[in-house]
Amino acid sequence: MTSCPKCGELLDVTYHWDQVPVPQSLREFEKRWSTRNNPIDFSGVWRFRELLPFAHDDQIITIGEGQTMLKASASVARYAGLNEDGLFLQYEGLNPSGSFKDNGMTAASTHAVMVGAKVAACASTGNTSASLAIYSSVAQKFKVVVFVGSGKIAFGKLSQALDYGAKTLQIQGDFDDALARVREVCTQEGIYLCNSVNPFRLEGQKSIMFRVLESLNWEVPDWIVVPGGNLGNSSAFGKAFMELKQLGLIDRIPRLAIINAQGANTLYQLYEQHGMRWNGGNYDLDQSTDFFTQMDKENRRASTLASAIEINRPVNFSKALRALDVCDGVVREVDDQQILDAKAQVGAGGLGCEPASAASVAGAKLLKSEGVIAAGDRVVCILTGHQLKDPNATVAYHSATDEHMDEKLSSHGVNTAPFSNGPIVVENDLDKIIEVIRSF
Ligand SMILES: *Cc1c(COP(=O)(O)O)cnc(C)c1O
Repeated sequence: MTSCPKCGELLDVTYHWDQVPVPQSLREFEKRWSTRNNPIDFSGVWRFRELLPFAHDDQIITIGEGQTMLKASASVARYAGLNEDGLFLQYEGLNPSGSFKDNGMTAASTHAVMVGAKVAACASTGNTSASLAIYSSVAQKFKVVVFVGSGKIAFGKLSQALDYGAKTLQIQGDFDDALARVREVCTQEGIYLCNSVNPFRLEGQKSIMFRVLESLNWEVPDWIVVPGGNLGNSSAFGKAFMELKQLGLIDRIPRLAIINAQGANTLYQLYEQHGMRWNGGNYDLDQSTDFFTQMDKENRRASTLASAIEINRPVNFSKALRALDVCDGVVREVDDQQILDAKAQVGAGGLGCEPASAASVAGAKLLKSEGVIAAGDRVVCILTGHQLKDPNATVAYHSATDEHMDEKLSSHGVNTAPFSNGPIVVENDLDKIIEVIRSF
């Protein structure tokens, strides 16, 4: 069960902090750097286990997730209009399955085994299924069924689910359809549901923020910028800061910017245009209900090249409102042109990522141009997924020329590729090759 049978809202994990050992200072976690031969101290999620204390040490299922890094990028900072030492990329592509989803899936898998689940399932735009599938293949404690929409999944991601042995159901429709269906199936069949409706996923994803703080020597940055899809990350980040503040482990909370793709901008519309707010938990449910009714009436479907955030019905919507409230947040939308341009800049100057991830950098640039982010702010952009997840989008962008633009890109409004870096065709001739090289 992932939602309240009475009100239908998603469940939220809360702890009796007075009954668990909580460190006096975040620095106490540093001691685990010297005991990395212990898998739960090695894990970038579980070495913070006192901050997600729902499992005993011997119940934890870990595959070394969260060995990720925060890297300053001067060139990406320049692109966004920030001071050269002010932009940091939190590279979650380094996770075992190549996306941040592993942070949450280690927690959900742990909980699944704690409750004796034999089968787990999820709907996915690709990365959730890749992550759940790798945990199942390593843990060997439960089987996995994944639901994907038809024709929507990037090949890198699909290949992972298949290779890790997950049963993969390709159903007609998009992610929103697949998620609605998998929730029904799980309820009816007693299958353990691993989408971010699962509150334990969010517990694991809090650790992304713990690692950001750790990399900044426990100093709180000014901004966290994150792409918004189902809003699990956004919700988890808000919860992390809320709890750290409550526990007296930080003295201030960074601002949160959630970036939607323009073709999947429900949160942007409801928060920025309709002014919907958390309002101490008494948010105006009628407002969002009306919005979704209208969406259904017009049969509006999410559409963006950033397939990981191609979601029109974000399940963690209300938790994200809470996160925006906690973090004095803002929401913006960026189009696919902005996303792919930013992605090329990330690739050229900072680790590389899949399209959805680059929404964070495009969003930081936009907020700087609006003056919401100041040039001297310290800004952390979350790179949610690895570049190799979706090589088609990358190659299509870099192969674009003035005469030719990939059809899929142009159908999503991407008409130029100012940072393209296409392969140069040269005859297999020494002189000609040298001539080309000297012309660089
Ligand atoms: C899942 C995913 C997102 C969206 O995250 P949410 O928590 O659903 O908002 C963004 N980028 C990538 C690469 C993802 O896999």
